[in-house]
Amino acid sequence: MRVFIGLGANLGDAAATLNAAVAALAALPLTSLTARSKTYRSAPIDAHGPDYLNAVAELETALSPVALLSELQGIEQAHGRERAYRNAPRTLDLDLLLYGDQVIATPELTVPHARMHERAFVLLPLQELAPDLQIPMRGKLADLLAAACDQRIAVSA
Ligand code: ATP
Ligand code: CA
Ligand code: CA
Repeated sequence: MRVFIGLGANLGDAAATLNAAVAALAALPLTSLTARSKTYRSAPIDAHGPDYLNAVAELETALSPVALLSELQGIEQAHGRERAYRNAPRTLDLDLLLYGDQVIATPELTVPHARMHERAFVLLPLQELAPDLQIPMRGKLADLLAAACDQRIAVSA
């Protein structure tokens, strides 16, 4: 299954954290890393704290969606993530953006990720990896990105 993971970090050495997280994704069972976007810098949305560094990773995996989510949470924990409060700054956030073209709506897992279609910090790195992508229920990536063009984001130095 072709899967996209959104990575974000805005505490500590965020660039190093993203690199370590990508390495951890590549090491998951039944999984291979097929692509990784550049690292982008974005201002926090509905939140405080330093700018975020963001990236998207593409995986080929035989893990189920729930098993993959559990692995993502394990990697977050390994990087000392604490859920202090909603949208709190965090050392590492890993979101399951897309699982093939599957639509999943369970209490613990919504795929496509419920807010990815309105976030430039997800859409721009995703476009780098898959410019012609269609997001199930949301439409063409390029159209979604055009609608999010007011959000400040840049390739990180
Ligand atoms: P947002 O969802 O707006 O990006 P967040 O990433 O800060 O916010 P978290 O605290 O990381 O939110 O996650 C809250 C819960 O979201 C998790 O416990 C998880 O069960 C659930 N969740 C639902 N769908 C997904 C998904 N596609 N990827 C990751 N977590 C998800
Ligand atoms: Ca998130
Ligand atoms: Ca998350």
